[in-house]
Amino acid sequence: MPYVVTQSCCSDASCVLACPVNCIHPAPGDPDFATAEMLYIDPDGCVDCGACATACPVDAIKPHTLLSPAEEPFRALNAEYFEVFPHADRTPVAVVPPQRRLRDRRPVRVAVVGAGPAGLYAADELLKHPELRVDVLDRLPTPHGLVRAGVAPDHQRTKQAERLLAQIEDQPGFGYLLGVEVGTDLSRAELDERYDAVIWTVGASADKPLRVPGEDLPGSLSATEVVGWYNGHPDHQDLAVDLGHERVVVVGNGNVALDVARVLTLDPERLRGTDIAGLPWAQLAQSRVREVVVLGRRGPAQAAFTLPELVGLVALAEDGLVDVVVEAGGADLPADTPVGRQLARLRDLTPDPSRRRIVLRFLTQPLAILGEDRVRGLEVERTTLEPGPDGTLRAVGTGETEVLDCGLVLRAVGYHGREVADLPYDPATGTVPSDAGRVEPGTYVAGWVKRGPTGFIGTNKSCAQETVSRLLDDLDAGLVSPPARDADDLGALLASRGVTALDLADWRALDAEERRRGAASGRVRAKIVDREEMLRVAVEARRERVTRSRYPSRPKARSTR
Ligand code: NAP
Repeated sequence: MPYVVTQSCCSDASCVLACPVNCIHPAPGDPDFATAEMLYIDPDGCVDCGACATACPVDAIKPHTLLSPAEEPFRALNAEYFEVFPHADRTPVAVVPPQRRLRDRRPVRVAVVGAGPAGLYAADELLKHPELRVDVLDRLPTPHGLVRAGVAPDHQRTKQAERLLAQIEDQPGFGYLLGVEVGTDLSRAELDERYDAVIWTVGASADKPLRVPGEDLPGSLSATEVVGWYNGHPDHQDLAVDLGHERVVVVGNGNVALDVARVLTLDPERLRGTDIAGLPWAQLAQSRVREVVVLGRRGPAQAAFTLPELVGLVALAEDGLVDVVVEAGGADLPADTPVGRQLARLRDLTPDPSRRRIVLRFLTQPLAILGEDRVRGLEVERTTLEPGPDGTLRAVGTGETEVLDCGLVLRAVGYHGREVADLPYDPATGTVPSDAGRVEPGTYVAGWVKRGPTGFIGTNKSCAQETVSRLLDDLDAGLVSPPARDADDLGALLASRGVTALDLADWRALDAEERRRGAASGRVRAKIVDREEMLRVAVEARRERVTRSRYPSRPKARSTR
């Protein structure tokens, strides 16, 4: 009964470490690990022990007998990977790296700026060393970055990564300073002088512009903002998302585009029980949108979405939950590739006009967003493919244009990192240049701010491991000096500036309150989306904890009977 990796694979490779026969690949160290869209289990090598399924943080691994019809294609996909990459030279032992120990056992305190997956994976690596304490800061009062505010609400299995993040938080030496913006509430210098080292894991929070006329019209939004809106990110709750027109066009066909297209077309009842934010859900329930066109400027073979996400979309279409139409723009579907086979399944389905639909349109690029007071349409141009100077196929306009009527244009053309404090910055990539995570001894980066906006939640694990190993090298080489001041004064310093920093207990109280409110209405959680309310709830719970610790309830008088 071999196990099978399915759609929500986060690529953090916990399963690889757990597998006693090394039958899960690509593994860290394999040449294709960094670019793999998911990991795969060799059905011939699997000994059916289930250790991988236990280790998986997002429940992506199942015995083949328990696959749902939607997950069934993953059985062949797992097997096919090993037909191409047999990894026949693997040694039949679990890949457990020897635990490193620091040369100098002095206490070391590290600040991690950014409480998303990259920050927490970095904290996890650091806390393998008993000499180290870690404070994780975030500008929001809530942690977990894109796991909370990026993963689509219909992907609740992926959101289970929060359980792993909670285990990291539970380790001795871990602390939070949430609701603190470094650069505003606290300067980089004030942080540097209180910690031996600082790791920046602030992600890539801006989105790339399209650079076409009309981009500033109301109704032209970035998909990043819309994702934040329906996921309850406090910065995006006032976003004007006009769902009054029948068609929405999403430019770009990466996984973000597919996420947004699904959320805009799925029956809102399927999202009701999730952690989707309340007001956006109510707006989606009133939506008049019937069609979301996902525009790829290149062909089906160059689509940016990943195979697991496409398989998930095909399952929705085959279950009749949404129509998905493929408009290849004259290009052939890639033959004999897993993506081509999935697209062919979509092409062979019979559309049902009563359903909402997603159109995967290829070889089409945006020219101009049209409208005077708000978006009324998008002018697009057919493209053809030509090799660029580096040999990569790029889209070139053919001059054949057309206008797509629509009320909303969402650009989903990738994220871009902003400049961070006064760290070095490469505007072309939106990253902080580093040597495998080391900016200079004492200053490090991990996650998207280091490598750009690519990969999945778990990709940040190996990225953070690389960065932390540079930091440990610098500690061992004596290149990192002890801090000039004690970081314990930070809470008081911030309070003197009117900033309430939330700690782990505060976050846990907020988390419990969101889950309690959610349970009351049959939902996973009801997110609190207003910063002030987050602080109020957390501070009130803090007061109650203090009161309980000062006046513990007296034990009940023992019965005399
Ligand atoms: P992405 O994967 O980089 O896709 C960007 C898309 O925008 C591509 O189709 C690209 O086309 C297109 N594009 C770029 N500039 C354009 C322009 N000027 N005009 C028209 N099209 C343009 O970006 P993303 O979707 O934002 O995803 C970012 C990362 O997050 C990815 O690694 C993704 O896998 C990950 N993510 C994963 C999940 C998941 O696992 N469920 C969910 C969300 C995000 P070209 O290819 O022609 O450049």
